[in-house]
Amino acid sequence: MSSQGSAAPRESLDDRLQAFVGLSPGPSYPGPSEVNLPMITHWVEAMGDHNPVYADEAAAREAGFEGIIAPPTMLQAWVMRGLRASQLTDDARARGEEGDTNHDRLMGVLNDAGFTSVVATNCDQHYVRPLVLGDHLQANSVIDSVSSEKKTGLGDGHFVTTRMEFTDQHGDPVATMQFRILKFRPRPKADEVREPGQPAERPKRPRPALTHDNRFFFDGAKEHKLLIQRCTNCRTLRHPPRPSCGQCRSFEWDTIAASGRGTVYSFVVNHYPQVPAFDYPLVVALVELEEGTRLVANVCDVSPESMFIGMPVMAGFETFDDELTLPVFRPVSKAESTEQSRER
Ligand code: ZN
Repeated sequence: MSSQGSAAPRESLDDRLQAFVGLSPGPSYPGPSEVNLPMITHWVEAMGDHNPVYADEAAAREAGFEGIIAPPTMLQAWVMRGLRASQLTDDARARGEEGDTNHDRLMGVLNDAGFTSVVATNCDQHYVRPLVLGDHLQANSVIDSVSSEKKTGLGDGHFVTTRMEFTDQHGDPVATMQFRILKFRPRPKADEVREPGQPAERPKRPRPALTHDNRFFFDGAKEHKLLIQRCTNCRTLRHPPRPSCGQCRSFEWDTIAASGRGTVYSFVVNHYPQVPAFDYPLVVALVELEEGTRLVANVCDVSPESMFIGMPVMAGFETFDDELTLPVFRPVSKAESTEQSRER
């Protein structure tokens, strides 16, 4: 291959990535603790794993082990250095006392090429023998492979596979682990690819999970009716919808249309996290209808500061898209509420 001009031929991205294969991603440390029963006990309780070979010496021997064993999937826990050690390393690097690792440099090359997002994709563990109390592990890692650029559902990127070899206090292998990440180029967000001047397409509101029991409520909303489920046996009203009456256990029900008048029983003002389908701050209230049932709904045309418990509200309906119409509430001004009570 001939190069033009005086500059040296530029190394391709793939060449630069392949140069990391076979290198250690960073220093390895012995595990901070040997395999021990308290850590195993915490793990199995968190996981809800009640296998007695992790807790009971006699049961473990009965099962053919030399004593209590550690759950195999706890493997990595025995070499995790913990928060304090990681912070000390971060501090040392901030002072310039510790340089970048090969892992850092590899991530830097990928970041500079635009593959700035990361997701873990695979973790495969192979066990040579069960770990028993008193084993003291160390893991040595190597960058096993870096793939060429692949197209994935998340975006184009490179898979980086790290292989860890776990050894015991005698230096004998006990397990291996292959851990793979995808470093990918994030897709531009919808509002970054639109033509100038064209409004961003807004994601739709989440759909309700429709069931045989609750469908009437959402169908009613499409017709601008606020429906409440009623037991046809004892006439008790209930909401949210459910199959049977809490008073008399009857499965027979019909619905009545609520007046829409209610009061704020409780409310929250949601600022964060923000979902693009909603406007913020988002006022979410538990509204007590004059019929006696309560429902959760948004309150519109109100400043969060002016919300109060006991606020009179009136139902309206908002159509968000072809499939979704929901009741929303608006504050009833004092004048309107007087007017309404006169009409009643
Ligand atoms: Zn009933």
